[in-house]
Amino acid sequence: MSTQIQESERIQFNRTKIVATLGPASSTPEMLEEMARAGADVFRINFSHGKYDDVITVVKHIREVNRKLGTHISILGDLQGPKLRIGVVENNGVEIKEGQILTFTTHEMTGTAEKVYITYPQFPKDVKVDENILIDDGKLVLRVVSTNKTDEVQAQVVHGGILSSKKGVNLPNTRISLPCLTPKDLQDLEFALQQQFDWIGLSFVRSGADIIELKHIIRNIDPASKARVIAKIEKPEAVSDIDNIIRETDALMVARGDLGVEVPMQRVPVIQKMLVRKCLAASKPVIIATQMMESMITNISPSRAEVNDVANSVMDGADAVMLSGETSVGKHPHKVVEAMSKIIAQVEEEHTLYYGERPPLFSTDERYVSDHICYAATQLARHTNAAAIITMTQSGYTAFRISSYRPRASIFVFTDNYSILTQLSLVWGVRGYYYDKNISTDHTIADIKFILKKEGLVVKDDFIVNTASIPLSEKGKSNMIKLSIVE
Ligand code: PGA
Ligand code: MN
Repeated sequence: MSTQIQESERIQFNRTKIVATLGPASSTPEMLEEMARAGADVFRINFSHGKYDDVITVVKHIREVNRKLGTHISILGDLQGPKLRIGVVENNGVEIKEGQILTFTTHEMTGTAEKVYITYPQFPKDVKVDENILIDDGKLVLRVVSTNKTDEVQAQVVHGGILSSKKGVNLPNTRISLPCLTPKDLQDLEFALQQQFDWIGLSFVRSGADIIELKHIIRNIDPASKARVIAKIEKPEAVSDIDNIIRETDALMVARGDLGVEVPMQRVPVIQKMLVRKCLAASKPVIIATQMMESMITNISPSRAEVNDVANSVMDGADAVMLSGETSVGKHPHKVVEAMSKIIAQVEEEHTLYYGERPPLFSTDERYVSDHICYAATQLARHTNAAAIITMTQSGYTAFRISSYRPRASIFVFTDNYSILTQLSLVWGVRGYYYDKNISTDHTIADIKFILKKEGLVVKDDFIVNTASIPLSEKGKSNMIKLSIVE
């Protein structure tokens, strides 16, 4: 096959990417295409909802959209992890009042205002007196009074309200002894790998060890899998073990929904900034998630505070901003993508990021040479005001690395590896192209320059920076930089 830069019909190319969660409001081929045209870069399939048959159909539609528009929209499968819930409650909901005692049982039953089932068998063993139990995104708050250490826990209601069926339970103070993947997660994971999802998100990650285990399980299921993992940060334990998590994971999500229940919500903004900073330093993509455009679930335009939230996440340097209910069940899935895209475009036009700060490199590091090349390429691009940094990659490594400096220059990545191409859709600033000509580096650089010029992506007299690996035959790591001018 020869060079393929399919003419893309996409209107908007922002540097900060958009993740849109799919659901009943957004799974038709027409809506997927509209969201793609409006600027969605990644579609998230949430395994907390939906059936496999429906997912197979939607995945097929996404790939059709990619073929039709020449896009490389990525697919993210989100595993629910050790998420706790209460069982079914009678009349679909009962009121619990401040001061009363509610008993949690590990035996399945229909709940009442006195007693309710919790889907966590070791709960009575793991929990301690005075720990908090939060239900339904923290709307109901209880405090543990006693546990029989086998099957029942008594708790006093601190904030009452309606206890309704199957609501999520957060135990911010409890060390939960469940494995990081439930039997359902294992099934979902196997399915996601069969369908060749690009990214696998894991909810309620607690430590770096959880990520090591997830990667191990992925290798066991499919040793050839190219899927990369996203650690969702939504527990205080994860915040405490963040350096280990970032080292092990391929990407991170600031999962503000559950995080704001598990830690006091006023801590979330500072944690968000800390996580973005650490991810940039480690060249790991980071997604900001939840309630970014919440009011657009029903309204036609966002609140001013939401506009600011998206804009600030862009200014923080996040790789991507995410939509959840807005696109999965909202009334205007493509309008919300469009609105988000406009906010991003405006901020990127007026606000320049450049992030040169980095931990020191050691000559013993495996990537010592290529890391220096990536850094130097971004510096050179900055000093020459270059229009583009162009890189050839097989592993995607240089793309992640160059992107993490947040250069002003466009980042064009050429690869013959299709799975890298879709994965890179999550990564800040990167635009990937399929390229599989096996010709000399000199020729490749000239060829790519010609292609980009033809597409109008660079123009005469632009400076461009290339990184490559020579000799080509060794297919090694980047070891060369070239600065040239478009003729
Ligand atoms: P969820 O994760 O939407 O899967 O719960 C995001 C969050 O908790 O913010
Ligand atoms: Mn969550």
